[in-house]
Amino acid sequence: MTDSSGRVLVVDDNELIRRLATALLAKKNYEIATATNGMSALSRAAGFDPDVILLDVMMPEMDGFECCRRLKAHAATRDIPVVMVSSNTDAIDKIKGLETGAADYIVKPFDYGELLARVATQVKMKRLLDELEKKNELLQEMVKKDSLTNLYNHRYFHERLSDEFSLCRGRQEALSCLVCDIDHFKNINDTFGHQAGDTILQSLASVFRELLRRDDVAGRYGGEEFAFILPRTGTDEAAVQAEQIRCQVEKTHFNFSGTAVNVTVSVGGACYPAVHAQTSSELIRLADNALYAAKQRGRNTVVIAP
Ligand SMILES: [Mg+2]
Repeated sequence: MTDSSGRVLVVDDNELIRRLATALLAKKNYEIATATNGMSALSRAAGFDPDVILLDVMMPEMDGFECCRRLKAHAATRDIPVVMVSSNTDAIDKIKGLETGAADYIVKPFDYGELLARVATQVKMKRLLDELEKKNELLQEMVKKDSLTNLYNHRYFHERLSDEFSLCRGRQEALSCLVCDIDHFKNINDTFGHQAGDTILQSLASVFRELLRRDDVAGRYGGEEFAFILPRTGTDEAAVQAEQIRCQVEKTHFNFSGTAVNVTVSVGGACYPAVHAQTSSELIRLADNALYAAKQRGRNTVVIAP
């Protein structure tokens, strides 16, 4: 793609125009596909994924306006800029073209320089928009994540739990929530320093990721607290998952400048509808109470709310 100036779909029922535009654009290193009518333009647009479409207005069966309307109506082709090409110099046609969603308009017989300039402008715009969209997606993902562990953050975890709760409640499916806290985490920070503490948090996040099933959701709930959403999971299965988490953490060894460090976690869980929670906040509060009970029982243990 590095030596290509962009991808252009040339749509025209006139072979001479197609060949002329193709020759002109190929000389400037554009990759070109052609279509001879509106219907094939629609399928070529989806398959070829052009940066810009040069679209003839006057074509039999489906004219350029209708073709443009359809391109703009489909998610896959909506963002591809369309440059309308017509021999009709009537201003009303130009307006009609722009109203159907065309980005620009060029009149036949076209000036070669003008055609190339208009195509180049649209390709540039398209690439900027693509880049912006990618950055936007990345940003959207970043605001959901905890930067240290790359698990979901507290705010997103709550949103997600609320959504999953409504969903499972509506479908009368089970939903479990686990809350997990590192035992005596303060001692680790005090003995080995905060950097060691951060490393442990990151390593635990990896341990959790390994254990999660496809639809499970993990979040960093607080400083040394993690929480899990287990959709379609009842009490027994949640207890097994919680025990796996506890057990796997206990088995994992961390090394700090030659010193082997082990940590343990306490896990509390609550399962809807086994517990009578009316909201997701109530569910997590019950899981939190269960975690408190696990701490009271001597830590490194699992308690599921009765
Ligand atoms: Mg024509």
